[in-house]
Amino acid sequence: MVSRQDVNLFNDILGKAKAADPVNTRKWFDELVLVEFDGGLLEIGAPDDAKAGYLNENCEPLFTRIAQQATGHLVTVRFSTQNGHRVELRPEQAEQPLKLHPDYNFENFVVGPGNRLCHASCVAVSNSPGTAYNPLFLYGSVGLGKTHLLHAICWEARKNDPSVSIQMLSCEKFMNLFIRAIEVGSLDEFQTQLRSADILIIDDIQFLREREQSQEEFFHTFNALYDKRKQIVLTADCAPGEIKSLEERLVSRFKWGLVASIDAPSYETRIAIVQKKANLRGLDITEEIAEYIASRVQANIRELEGALTSVYAMAKMLNEPISIEIAKQALGERITAARKQVAITDIINAVTNYYNVRKADLQSKKRSQSIAVPRQMCMYLARTLTGLSLEEIGGHLGGRDHTTVMHACSKIAELEKGDEKTASEVGELTKALNAV
Ligand code: ADP
Ligand code: MG
Repeated sequence: MVSRQDVNLFNDILGKAKAADPVNTRKWFDELVLVEFDGGLLEIGAPDDAKAGYLNENCEPLFTRIAQQATGHLVTVRFSTQNGHRVELRPEQAEQPLKLHPDYNFENFVVGPGNRLCHASCVAVSNSPGTAYNPLFLYGSVGLGKTHLLHAICWEARKNDPSVSIQMLSCEKFMNLFIRAIEVGSLDEFQTQLRSADILIIDDIQFLREREQSQEEFFHTFNALYDKRKQIVLTADCAPGEIKSLEERLVSRFKWGLVASIDAPSYETRIAIVQKKANLRGLDITEEIAEYIASRVQANIRELEGALTSVYAMAKMLNEPISIEIAKQALGERITAARKQVAITDIINAVTNYYNVRKADLQSKKRSQSIAVPRQMCMYLARTLTGLSLEEIGGHLGGRDHTTVMHACSKIAELEKGDEKTASEVGELTKALNAV
């Protein structure tokens, strides 16, 4: 039983968590409910699986900290779907449940001249997988919405046919699973798993370059699915022919269906995106502010979201409502000098020098403190200074999965706040990297 007192406490925790983390807060947090508060476990119900997954992935440490502060007890926070109902996975799904981002659907995707073709082809593919365009190959630089569109295909295809079997994985993940399957002698299972999909989606396929054996494996996966008229969707940061050291037979196959490029958004599209993102977070911003933010960031939509966050954070810090003055103050300097992208290789070099460790150790399985800390630092810096996804970062650090990277990032972020040594290490490394 949930008492009135518990509900009040829960509302208090929720309010504080929303205020403390404007980046991850979404309007739908208002739909969260208290399922159970008992024996040190605070279970919070989310409207659906994807939202519960999102919370477990992005918000669990923060909610835990706030719950502990609010109660003065050691509390564990867990997010589940509403009423504590945990959806059972079908046995064949047990290994790789499809993890979708709740924001990444077609509804939340703003269409403009730069992405119209990609968007339309993704809609077509999700409505008739295997027959519209096969394969569908999307390419464009980082932060332009490729991964968003892939998730949108999954949402839509599943809405159209809940029994559709979808395999979506990053290229890194594909390669890691493949290597692991060889190591443990389960190649058959790996192949069956991918080849029995109705839709196979591989994000950032450019990472196949120079990986001969993985290319070979992917070639056969591709053929098996293509022959059965199953849908294949791929993304990359450049056109098929520009991926270095990619076998010709793959390049030519990638061009069999539709190759569509996604380009930087126009000013009008950027304004609409800022409005959409603000709305998702439950923020109210005027047209003027949206225009201002859209004029400051041009090439990368992830940075556009970052700019919105900075404006909001500035308003919160000053304890004032969001205004154009605050937006200018928050973005005036920082963004004009177009933030430069730091390469992950530079980060790895800087960290290995700084802590006097070897790159091979960072990428190894070693867990000793002397290696684990530099490795976590690498992940954190890559997260803050590059546009790479958690999975991509994990891929560069010995094929670790995104939850490992995420934990590393939140750990260093926590330490940065509470521990002077870490704060100065982060400061020094960031400064050095920005000067590279
Ligand atoms: P990519 O995979 O191309 O690097 P992502 O799909 O990760 O880019 O997109 C980066 C961020 O920008 C995501 O938060 C995504 O929701 C957002 N985004 C990109 N394009 C759009 C769009 N057209 N409308 C709304 N949000 C977008
Ligand atoms: Mg991506």
